[in-house]
Amino acid sequence: MQEKHSFTIGDRVDYICITCGEERGHIVASISKKGQITRVSCPICGSRVPYKKGLTRRASMKIGAPYDRTHIYRRGETMMHPTFGAGEVTAVIEPCKIDVLFADRIRRLIHERV
Ligand SMILES: [Zn+2]
Repeated sequence: MQEKHSFTIGDRVDYICITCGEERGHIVASISKKGQITRVSCPICGSRVPYKKGLTRRASMKIGAPYDRTHIYRRGETMMHPTFGAGEVTAVIEPCKIDVLFADRIRRLIHERV
């Protein structure tokens, strides 16, 4: 299997997190000179692990409710954003800001805005 596109640090890749015990989107933490992923980090537990091909499967993300900026999101909640698609909250940064992992990368969104 050939990887068609090369990855860059910060990209999202689906990987099984041993610590969390489930498959989720991970962030590419380091890449080799050839553009191969060498390490990935889990945005939920923060563990950084060597990347081995074969431990990934096609994304099987639960589809969340449509993104609602007035909703108070918690870590692990899923959403469907009109522009970015399906996402999972990986961190609540401040009362009004969340980091959400989408199909390509993490984006910062606002929430709790009435
Ligand atoms: Zn984890």
